[in-house]
Amino acid sequence: MKTISLQTIKRLAMELKIYPAAALRKCAPPLRQVTGAELSRLNGMLELMYEQQGVGLAGPQVGWNVRVLTMDVEGKKEGERIFINPAILETEGVDMAEEGCLSLPGLKAVVARAGRVVVAAYTVRGERVELEAEGLAARAWQHEIDHLNGVLFIDKLSGPAGLALRRRLKSLRDGPEAGSKAPRAEEW
Ligand SMILES: [Zn+2]
Repeated sequence: MKTISLQTIKRLAMELKIYPAAALRKCAPPLRQVTGAELSRLNGMLELMYEQQGVGLAGPQVGWNVRVLTMDVEGKKEGERIFINPAILETEGVDMAEEGCLSLPGLKAVVARAGRVVVAAYTVRGERVELEAEGLAARAWQHEIDHLNGVLFIDKLSGPAGLALRRRLKSLRDGPEAGSKAPRAEEW
């Protein structure tokens, strides 16, 4: 017989918000305290992120309007992966690369991001950490922190790429085609 843990039940109750959900467009306030309830929710986010094969997930993406995110760019399932009230302290350079988003299934576009960032955040234990990230990790930080401000990667596109994407967004808003399955790898 298969038993389901309380954590799994909570995680199952957590659903990924898909564009154009209103939850994705709010500017989230800071999280003020981490009790057992918040910790359970944060761990649920981490589980959902892995289940969806994402490298990052922000609170608003599960309808939780606070400044929290989970991230594991290398997928190693170790080290600090839950970050509270993150902020970008420094950015440097420009990097162009394709990115996607779990809340915009099937969409990808080349987005300009800083190539290197220094961020500060709190751990679930209330410790302040500063991290330096480059490349994909720097991109993931910028993408997730954007989510906390109600910003999506599609907002950063212009020109022909933006136009093509807006056409596909319309189909996403009007509902996916029957039987279509979006690739999920490397989305956050
Ligand atoms: Zn995203």
